[in-house]
Amino acid sequence: MLPVIALVGRPNVGKSTLFNALTRSRDALVADMPGVTRDRHYGICHLGERPFVVVDTGGLSGSDEGIEGLTAQQVRLAIGEANLLVFVVDARDGILPLDASILGELRRSGKPVIVVVNKTDGTDEPTVMAEFASFGVAQTLPMSAAHNRGIDVLVASALPHL
Ligand code: GDP
Ligand code: MG
Repeated sequence: MLPVIALVGRPNVGKSTLFNALTRSRDALVADMPGVTRDRHYGICHLGERPFVVVDTGGLSGSDEGIEGLTAQQVRLAIGEANLLVFVVDARDGILPLDASILGELRRSGKPVIVVVNKTDGTDEPTVMAEFASFGVAQTLPMSAAHNRGIDVLVASALPHL
């Protein structure tokens, strides 16, 4: 079994953009398995000799009803099979109540968590990072997935957990 990193967070924070940046820049085999995985998308990345799997998830909206609830079930399956949770948040939105509740759920899983503060491009990064430091997660990293900034640091930070 390859080690698994799951990308988790609210909708629209940039999980899929980060997934694409990770898989593109790491020579990935991106395998979409519709029907089997619903809206979980898997990519295999290589870092030197180390292959690992990245799972893009559909996003947690805070609802357990209807389609959103089905998506949440999928996200929970992805959390269950992951060795490392990458919690993606949006630098422009700051901390929303839903972020705090998702982080609580991730912590309850007992798995290691790295916070990725995405969309730092065009923001005052020190101010943004100071706000997200209040989560108290030791590994909290700035990122601009759309501009491929922060990817290498994330991968280097993830490796010891895999
Ligand atoms: P997801 O719903 O979490 O998968 O988010 P997406 O990857 O679909 O991205 C949502 C929106 O945010 C899209 O319009 C992206 O182009 C935009 N986005 C993603 N990453 C960045 C980033 O690093 N900087 C900026 N400015 N926009 C981004
Ligand atoms: Mg997405």
